Amino acid sequence: MQEDLIVMAAHKVVCWECGAEVTDPYANLCPKCNGLLTVKMDLSAVSEITPEDLRSKKLGVWRYAPFMPVDEANKVSIQEGGTPLYKTEALGEALGVKDSFVKFEGLNPTGSFKDRGMTMGVSHAKELGAKVVGCASTGNTSASLAAYASKAGMQCAVFLPSGKVAMGKLAQALFFGANVLSVDGNFDDALALARKMHDERKLYLLNSINPYRPEGQKSVLFEIIDQLDYEVPDRIILPVGNAANIWAVYKACTELMEVGWIKKMPKLTGIQAAGSCPVATAFQDGSMDVIAEPNPETIATAIRIGNPISGKKALKAMYDTKGVCTTVTDEEIIQAQLLLGRTEGVCVEPASAASVAGLKKLRAQGIIEPDEKVVCICTGNGLKDPDTILNNVPKPIPCMNDVADVERILKEAAAPKE
Ligand SMILES: *Cc1c(COP(=O)(O)O)cnc(C)c1O
Ligand SMILES: [Zn+2]
Repeated sequence: MQEDLIVMAAHKVVCWECGAEVTDPYANLCPKCNGLLTVKMDLSAVSEITPEDLRSKKLGVWRYAPFMPVDEANKVSIQEGGTPLYKTEALGEALGVKDSFVKFEGLNPTGSFKDRGMTMGVSHAKELGAKVVGCASTGNTSASLAAYASKAGMQCAVFLPSGKVAMGKLAQALFFGANVLSVDGNFDDALALARKMHDERKLYLLNSINPYRPEGQKSVLFEIIDQLDYEVPDRIILPVGNAANIWAVYKACTELMEVGWIKKMPKLTGIQAAGSCPVATAFQDGSMDVIAEPNPETIATAIRIGNPISGKKALKAMYDTKGVCTTVTDEEIIQAQLLLGRTEGVCVEPASAASVAGLKKLRAQGIIEPDEKVVCICTGNGLKDPDTILNNVPKPIPCMNDVADVERILKEAAAPKE
């Protein structure tokens, strides 16, 4: 058992496009070519251990510390990850898929997968000695960063597009004491302002352009494979917004291949909302260039992003694994959200339901086979956005203080509807 020997894999930050090594810890893009950055892990030490060795630690992000670029001694953690992987038989039956699973990321500490990246990003900020951290956000990133900044004792500034954030997420950021700045404009405007602050070194930016966050997000894939006892699913479906998460999942797969723990790649399948789908459009064109959408619109606010920063990385993830990228309408998202709740007792936010809506659509189109083993990653908790739920369910039923009246109501409700 060599677990204690590997607290952090050796690594360097490199340009994803030209390969140049980047040493400025505040660089978010390559100083040579302006390309996206990534972390190159040296996994030679991991090749000496087995998946079984990691299982002495509880399921969660830090079980996989040997794949992470931050020394665990510096970790800022509120026990992120370790989320359930449900075998969803009733959902699968409704959709005509034999072997389906839902990875419910809504059970992370702040209710979304963003916590996996934030534990890594904020731990790294601590290593750098940062006192102020910040992000622009459609909601969940800010909720998560605000919580981790509290835990780390750092000041936190979040830049939100005015009026477009789900209520639960806004409440969380304010609750954790972040400086919440409502910026006149959309998400892309809020991000541009946050980046200016970072470039002037007035804060350390923890948007997904930060190369350390996807490193923590890799853990969702590590957990799925671990929970399936290293039997790789045929396909993993997830919603795509800024597009870093599907890239993180891809990177995790390549690293498990590299150390020989898995022998095949799952088909990574990205789902976008029809009103906000620049990555899906590029995929349909077989292109690597994402053309920004100036006015993205969808009820799934977590993926309402017109200019996805990691679009190119996401496209590579899908092309390389023979996955697909498609869109679903807001109506399909709402239907899928309700279906998941009523078949499996799982309440996810609209962006997360996009993965289930995508499964339904791709199965109906015959692109997904009935006997595929499929995992839908459901990225966030439905309670984040109660407004959307209440707009799509019936009102409470007026009832007299009387047993007979209750019986009447239940009988009517149970009667088959014609
Ligand atoms: C952030 C987020 C997404 C999108 O993830 P990207 O990495 O931006 O593609 C999807 N669902 C939820 C709930 C999110 O918070
Ligand atoms: Zn470069």
